Amino acid sequence: MLDLPEFGVEGYFDYNATAPMTPAAMTAWWETERRHWQNPSSLYREAGAAKRLLEDLREELADFFGIDDSERVVFTSGATETNNAVIRHFAENFTRDGERGRVLVSCIEHPSEAAAVAKWLSGKKAHFLTIDPSTGMIDPCEVAEEIARGDVVAVSVIAANNETGVLQPWAEVATLCHEAGIPFHTDAVQWIGRFSLDKLGAGNYVTGSGHKIGGGKGAGFLLLPEKEARVPFHSLIGGPQENGHRAGTENLPAIAAMLAALRNQEESFLESVARQQSALRDEFEARMVRELGVRVLGQGGPRLWNTSLIVLSQGKNVKWLARLSQRGYAVSTGSACSAGRGNPSVVMIAMGLDYEEMGRVLRISSGPQTKAEEWAGLSDALLSISRE
Ligand code: PMP
Repeated sequence: MLDLPEFGVEGYFDYNATAPMTPAAMTAWWETERRHWQNPSSLYREAGAAKRLLEDLREELADFFGIDDSERVVFTSGATETNNAVIRHFAENFTRDGERGRVLVSCIEHPSEAAAVAKWLSGKKAHFLTIDPSTGMIDPCEVAEEIARGDVVAVSVIAANNETGVLQPWAEVATLCHEAGIPFHTDAVQWIGRFSLDKLGAGNYVTGSGHKIGGGKGAGFLLLPEKEARVPFHSLIGGPQENGHRAGTENLPAIAAMLAALRNQEESFLESVARQQSALRDEFEARMVRELGVRVLGQGGPRLWNTSLIVLSQGKNVKWLARLSQRGYAVSTGSACSAGRGNPSVVMIAMGLDYEEMGRVLRISSGPQTKAEEWAGLSDALLSISRE
């Protein structure tokens, strides 16, 4: 018997940090480890079966993105690794010392990508695209203007921001890049599992992660552009796996679990979940504005249907978070990756917040199964804490 994950809380509102593994993903993980535990690179019969499963999963993932050539799919350990590998690739293969050549990067990338930019694109090689604080969006016109200068060698724009939930005009930017013959990358971790995937794979470098969609931790992927549109992509560290694109024995159970979770993401299901969750989120926000005087960030732009980033009118967010936690509600103070270390969030700085305001921010992010009662319970808990 499998022990399925338990929420352990009245209301889990931290889906942008991670999602519980779906029962299908857990079964796939367990079955794969039980039946195909061999190393897919070994040469005997049973390892051959593991290798075939790996390649079937690669083809299936390519299909989800409307990609014919499954060699464009590279399995990784997760999105942090993928983002680092792409930025390193852009830095090493598209910019050269002593020559002009800038990589455009949005100023609201996930910390894993921001750190890679700091490491590999220091100096004048990165140009940060600004956002409009009222919408939380970058402006494709800025991208067009920068490209027109003639020295842009690659562009990277997150598809949906993990803190504000604001969707970025990545498709428009991708078109600008394709027209100019410039490689385009998008970190689509928060987009996948929420919207349809078909356009993402068209000619782009794409980052994805299994655990954000209920596939469990330990697997992610990179989509490469078509062969003719790319320069050789080498792994971050030495090793021959994944056609030389990524080193290390493939985590087959985690990859199988990620695919099992992706199979749940049919368009009709996503559309009904989006309708339902955005209505519940909007109702929650309206009540919080009315009764608690909170400010909602990123409301001027299109947002993920599950995310609400609010600035409380008083008190420290960590205290609110602790009190919510005592009542059984799990929320976040922002991106789990920077929140845990207390670093200021560059996204919130870009949204125009000062340090004091940043200390009053809560991020609430729901999942496909979040019930109306959980949303109502969360509002009640926040109102009861405000009266303490
Ligand atoms: N990019 C985005 C937008 C994310 O939200 C996250 C997870 N917080 C990551 C990258 C890193 O993903 P992983 O945990 O798979 O390394």
